[in-house]
Amino acid sequence: MHDLIIRQTHMTVPVGTIYCLGKNYEKHIREMGGAGPTPPVIFIKPRTALVRPGGIVHRPAISSEMHHEVELVAVIGKKGKGIPEDEAMDHIQGFAIGVDLTLRDVQAVAKQRGEPWAVAKGFDGSAPVSEVLVRTEIPDPQDLTLRLSVNGKVRQEGSTRDMILTVPGVIAYLSTIFTLEPGDCVFTGTPEGVGPVEPGETIRAEIVGHIAAEWNVA
Ligand code: MG
Repeated sequence: MHDLIIRQTHMTVPVGTIYCLGKNYEKHIREMGGAGPTPPVIFIKPRTALVRPGGIVHRPAISSEMHHEVELVAVIGKKGKGIPEDEAMDHIQGFAIGVDLTLRDVQAVAKQRGEPWAVAKGFDGSAPVSEVLVRTEIPDPQDLTLRLSVNGKVRQEGSTRDMILTVPGVIAYLSTIFTLEPGDCVFTGTPEGVGPVEPGETIRAEIVGHIAAEWNVA
């Protein structure tokens, strides 16, 4: 169940650690009312957070405000620590579109109390990820349009050109702290337009022109 699917071969890869970068697009930082953090905000979701394309996401009972955050996901294919930025692409097996589902009400309380985001960000189902495109299908990860729709209505649309830390920059930074391993996923931050998604609605996320996936919310 907690496997990534490689689109070209239909092979599955067990998902490893899911790393997420917060606040990597200026306009999203502004909509959240914050300033850009240095160093970047990093958090982790358990592997059990993964939901395959076409799966169902359950909003946990502890929350009444679950937000979508559409993000480019890099899937690690080669183990590394201290990866130089100019070698980072060699460590990426492929790319997917993912949704960093966030319990915004739970997160707000955690922020207020200075507590971790583990519950707000890491609950079961908090990481829907599409099939994975091999890296050669994405010649330039900084030239992609990410889009998220809810019940057919576009809620988020942004370009990876606007990322503050580029994909190789994110990989290089993470690998100064963590050993990245095959199957690990790196969520690279969300553009603006985050908002609530309710039980009964359908989320569609896409890298425009490359891949799309849908999940129903229960
Ligand atoms: Mg996010």
